[in-house]
Amino acid sequence: MHTWNDIESMICSCGRCALGQTRKNAVPGKGSHAAQIMLVAEAPGKQEDLQGIPFVGPAGKVLDILLTSAGLSRKDVFITNIVKCHPPGNRDPLPEEQEACMQYLRAETALLHPPVIVCLGRIAAQKLIAPNFKITREHGMWVHRKGYWMTAVYHPSAILRDPAKLEEAKRDFQSIVAKVQEIEESKYPL
Ligand code: SF4
Repeated sequence: MHTWNDIESMICSCGRCALGQTRKNAVPGKGSHAAQIMLVAEAPGKQEDLQGIPFVGPAGKVLDILLTSAGLSRKDVFITNIVKCHPPGNRDPLPEEQEACMQYLRAETALLHPPVIVCLGRIAAQKLIAPNFKITREHGMWVHRKGYWMTAVYHPSAILRDPAKLEEAKRDFQSIVAKVQEIEESKYPL
């Protein structure tokens, strides 16, 4: 199995898809290597491309609000993306780019082995939960797959565009904390 350093080095030198030619910096996942919660969005944004760190731009501020509202901080989560390089013009990552990059998400997931995986937004949910996932209708619902509890919440950028989604997203984050507690308690039934 790879180490965290291996994965980061492979991502930072990767040219498996065209995004490797236009990125300023690749953006490997970042956060606690003991996190119970892995957050997966679709791709780094412009600020993330400049800094090489996930969720440092305006969407990152919304993510921090959501984490705080659930009693969490960045120290409690591991944050990553389906593709590790910024798509030009902030377009959606293409299916072939997502597929080319999945090996790194698989490696991150195998190493972290989180009980809970949270898709941030439609594209991550469609890749990881179901191809026809409808974020408006199905956010906050849980599925258990391959040993992981998985759910999806609105992408923080969607909340920036429509702040009315914030309260629903806060409730979803509270359900994430409840799920982690439920999993912990099920290990120690007495
Ligand atoms: S998006 Fe992923 S597969 Fe494509 S160049 Fe970047 S790290 Fe490699």
